[in-house]
Amino acid sequence: MNDAEVLIMAIATINPATGETIKIFSPLTDLQIDEKIRRAEETFRSYRQVSFADRAKWMSQAAQILEMEKEPLGRLMTLEMGKPFKAAAAEALKCAWACRYYVENAERFLAEMEVKGDATRSYIRFQPLGPLLAVMPWNFPFWQVFRFAAPALMAGNVVLLKHASNVPQCALAIEAIFKRAGFPEGIFQTLLIGSEQVSRVIDDPRVRAATLTGSVGAGRAIGGQAGQRIKKTVLELGGSDPFIVMPSADLEEAVKTAVQARVINNGQSCIAAKRFIVAEEAAGPFERRFTELMERLRVGDPMEEKTQIGPLATADQVKIVDEQVSAAVAAGARLLTGGRRLDRPGFYYAPTVLTDIPRETPAYREEIFGPVASLFRVANIDEAIRMANDTVFGLGSSVWTKNAMERARFIDEIEAGMVFVNAMVASDPRLPFGGVKQSGYGRELSEFGIREFVNIKTVWIKEEGQSRRSEIE
Ligand code: NAP
Repeated sequence: MNDAEVLIMAIATINPATGETIKIFSPLTDLQIDEKIRRAEETFRSYRQVSFADRAKWMSQAAQILEMEKEPLGRLMTLEMGKPFKAAAAEALKCAWACRYYVENAERFLAEMEVKGDATRSYIRFQPLGPLLAVMPWNFPFWQVFRFAAPALMAGNVVLLKHASNVPQCALAIEAIFKRAGFPEGIFQTLLIGSEQVSRVIDDPRVRAATLTGSVGAGRAIGGQAGQRIKKTVLELGGSDPFIVMPSADLEEAVKTAVQARVINNGQSCIAAKRFIVAEEAAGPFERRFTELMERLRVGDPMEEKTQIGPLATADQVKIVDEQVSAAVAAGARLLTGGRRLDRPGFYYAPTVLTDIPRETPAYREEIFGPVASLFRVANIDEAIRMANDTVFGLGSSVWTKNAMERARFIDEIEAGMVFVNAMVASDPRLPFGGVKQSGYGRELSEFGIREFVNIKTVWIKEEGQSRRSEIE
């Protein structure tokens, strides 16, 4: 979606594998939104006092539901956004992992921290902020929500979810999971609203902070509105991750991983490798093998076990990807394979490889959210790093080398929130996730994620008779 553009989309389940509209939902009215916010605030007043043990009991139960019901939940994800069913069921399990990770660690991450100072006692206390708005994308319709909600709820906050308009049934299923897990009514509510209704929620003084995972345009809109109200935000935005291959790399392993890193989730992942930057010496063999493997991918019905790539999530996505590829080709880029919609019902796009891409084309400058790889050749590591950083984004990066000096330079010099060496970028509840530059700010997951939406309260206690050294500030 273009910057600052608010496309008003119907809230509906449309099967991307067939194009068929399955179910349409009416957006909430202003009055209904107000009632949900009222309930969130009321619930927060009691929920903030609930013990970690109780929160952990309910969160474990949520994890168990996700594990037991991974297949029906996976089918729902596939129906609404088209990812291969196997990956969808695995997504439900990954959500359970995040829930259990915070069950085990939240209390420790938010334990009071004693600080030695001039006081009789001084310490830091972490307290929840209140109702939080989460605006989420469709690409990992469960994972994006759980990786935010598990720590937020364990910290004692309550959540209002505005999910992407094309995954309303996933949104409702997530709300139902928390309810069935035993959490109090109102700690997690889905707002079936369009993007044009989001500002109303941000403006409401009862909503204390907001998080968005989505495009740069949505980030500008939400970050800007929250800024006007002096509300904290975490923004997880787009990426155009580099995948750099140096001559010392294990080429076959690098190529196989490269293909997987590009087409994961039908090519629609923020941390998918999007720009393949290969040292001249390895470029020829890399290009040939990579193209061969892309051509061999099995595209088809995402419900079928053998399918490796399903459809894109929406008709708009196919149009955007097709326009980006066509513009690159018109400007002189070379197609090694693909470059077209597939002639079948649904929103399918052929696995595509582009090379010789001019710098001023959308394929060079923008994120391509589909199974389209851009290949670049570089003379040396200096050029590789320069090209890797020649983007407005800074989310992840994957570098392939056996050379210790090169490895150290990549880790130090790549402008990204994450550098993976000899592996593809992946999220993990134990490690912080997030970016720099226009990929956003703030972090999810790990100890850092749970501390994003808490009041880091300084407590300073002076007992009688004690004098204080510094009274400044
Ligand atoms: P999107 O259009 O920005 O939508 C994401 C969410 O924001 C949806 O709920 C959408 O609602 C809402 N939204 C869009 N514009 C808005 C506005 N102006 N005001 C308020 N809400 C707004 O993103 P997308 O195209 O669906 O998702 C793909 C993007 O997300 C890619 O750029 C991808 O890289 C990024 N992403 C980032 C991460 C990360 O962790 N960094 C992870 C996954 C995806 P509607 O559906 O109603 O429009």
